[in-house]
Amino acid sequence: MEKNLHIYNTLARKKEVFKPINSPFVGLYVCGPTVYGDAHLGHARPAITFDLLFRYLKHIEYKVRYVRNITDVGHLENDADEGEDKIAKKARLEQLEPMEIVEYYTHRYHKNMESLNVLRPNIEPKASGHIIEQQIMVDQILENGFAYESNGSVYFDVERYNKSNNYGKLSGRKLEDLQSNTRVLEGQDEKRNPNDFALWKKAAPEHIMRWPSKWSDGFPGWHLECSVMSTKYLGEQFDIHGGGMDLLFPHHECEIAQSKAANGQESVKYWMHNNMITIGGQKMGKSLNNFITLDEFFEGNHEFLEKAYSPMTVRFFVLQAHYRSTVDFSNEALQAAEKGFEKLMKAGETLAKLKAGAESSVNIDKLTSNCYKAMNDDLNSPILISHLFEAVRIINSVNDGKEKINTDDLDNIKSLYNTFVVDILGLQEDKLNLANETSLTGDLIDMILNLRLDAKKNKDFATSDKIRDELTKKGVKIKDTKDGFEWEI
Ligand code: ZN
Repeated sequence: MEKNLHIYNTLARKKEVFKPINSPFVGLYVCGPTVYGDAHLGHARPAITFDLLFRYLKHIEYKVRYVRNITDVGHLENDADEGEDKIAKKARLEQLEPMEIVEYYTHRYHKNMESLNVLRPNIEPKASGHIIEQQIMVDQILENGFAYESNGSVYFDVERYNKSNNYGKLSGRKLEDLQSNTRVLEGQDEKRNPNDFALWKKAAPEHIMRWPSKWSDGFPGWHLECSVMSTKYLGEQFDIHGGGMDLLFPHHECEIAQSKAANGQESVKYWMHNNMITIGGQKMGKSLNNFITLDEFFEGNHEFLEKAYSPMTVRFFVLQAHYRSTVDFSNEALQAAEKGFEKLMKAGETLAKLKAGAESSVNIDKLTSNCYKAMNDDLNSPILISHLFEAVRIINSVNDGKEKINTDDLDNIKSLYNTFVVDILGLQEDKLNLANETSLTGDLIDMILNLRLDAKKNKDFATSDKIRDELTKKGVKIKDTKDGFEWEI
């Protein structure tokens, strides 16, 4: 398999040939969700983007270790160093243990990702499971002189770091500009500089998520977990770090600084960022309260939605845009995506039934090489999809007898469809959701038992007994009543 992938490296600000540090092994780390609410469309985007990358890397025969974290501690309101922990706040409001919140929303996140056909990462570490490792990194940074303790908390010394390094290199910000733009906020007097960020926070008395440490009973800063867990599972230097563009600053900028300050070297070779989902031109998210959860999409249960959209429609909608472009939500665009997706699936069914002839009037090799070209060009999924619609045109045209296809070309177009539609874009027929499945099962049992009633009326007792016995074997308990029947599983 020829490997000719180019990806846009945010750090280099250009597309680069992808060369793993230790080929064929690829280390991929992506910032996962903070689990204090249901996943919305904004969460689907990074999940689908890096699923596409994960699938393609595996397809071109790399051995990928994909790590995507779960943030369950330390992410404070407004992404700041002051305020309540997002999970602890939810736990307080719902009168639950924080870890109940974490389990509940992690499970729901997994269910959403499964319906979107997003593959599970190889490792999904939680911040709360790596407190000791985080304390060790705080120690390393302190020892190397890039952090200081203040009133039981430990802060990263941005100014000190910036003397020998470039704080802001990823986001293109300059510390001088940041400083002139930052107001000194109340409660930040523990910091030497308002741009310093917390590595360890002393917990206020009412703060429920806390661990003992040599500095204080407290909790790790939000940025620290990703530096710690990425290097723990992928090594001090690894290939790709991904996430949403909204994490570029300060989260990823701080990660770079922490890893360099602790280990003396930068850990990430390629930084990749997906763009945002917008709604009426504004970023969809919790902070603006303009988000639509994935379950709301699947059920059509939101004032912005004209109807329900299936998980695969949502996946196709996301993939129709290049990951570095914004995607604006609209019912119109989703309905167009739904039509496009159905057309693609229908062509798959037609393709399965297509018969080859002796001659061919189509060129599948060229089409296949165009599909690879699109993927190799920084995962250009919209261009890939346009080539796949050319395949759809060919399939339908052969089916209508307007064009001819021989055995080799038929095999090639089948392999193209399976490779790009199924394996790489991860598109498949939507699975019925559980509620639909349950109601379908109920309807079918009713129908069969009504047929049994008809058989009894016709004195066909052999059939009626057979139906009863077969259903009983499958675990359906039947009770004959005056008016007909009752049943339970
Ligand atoms: Zn992160």
